[in-house]
Amino acid sequence: MPNPTSLTEPSAPTHLTLAVASAETLTSCFQCAKCSNGCPVADIADLLPHRIVRLAQLGLLREPMASEHIWNCTGCGACSTRCPNEVPVAKLMDHLKSEALSEQIPLGADSAKVAKFHALFNKAVCKYGRSYELGTLRKVKTTREMLGQMRLGMTMLRRGKIHLRPARIRDRKAVRELFRRAGVTK
Ligand code: SF4
Ligand code: SF4
Repeated sequence: MPNPTSLTEPSAPTHLTLAVASAETLTSCFQCAKCSNGCPVADIADLLPHRIVRLAQLGLLREPMASEHIWNCTGCGACSTRCPNEVPVAKLMDHLKSEALSEQIPLGADSAKVAKFHALFNKAVCKYGRSYELGTLRKVKTTREMLGQMRLGMTMLRRGKIHLRPARIRDRKAVRELFRRAGVTK
């Protein structure tokens, strides 16, 4: 019988564990599926949020780490808000994403695209304190795709929705420190 509070697969590396605080709150899940019923991307989920919580309870993290759902997750937090037991479902999705990257879990083509966007977004926020949409788009879209959206891009530029140069906040050092403390950067 797996130990529900350790949340570690027998074959998984020792660092592949959830924080004790998260582990304790996960054990209160009674599989009502309210999280999945409120998830806006449940229709395309290969693994529903309540199933992911159940696997995490059992310490079986490989399957959820390899699922497409963690990358389709919008981070809206509806699952956590709807949960009657305050299980931090959205936080679990974030944790699984970060573990999947550090464990170099093979991703499907669509998930890999989202993972790349995720990494570039984090990099820009860490560097400038704000997202840099145009810089990120240049790295995830082909020239052909960019040209195909030229008209939309020009409208967004005119309306100040995107910028040619990255906007920077004053206290970027504080943001970098936040990233370091969260373990995203060293
Ligand atoms: S809503 Fe909460 S208790 Fe219900 S299945 Fe989801 S995580 Fe478990
Ligand atoms: S945070 Fe993710 S898993 Fe939770 S409801 Fe939103 S999209 Fe679904």
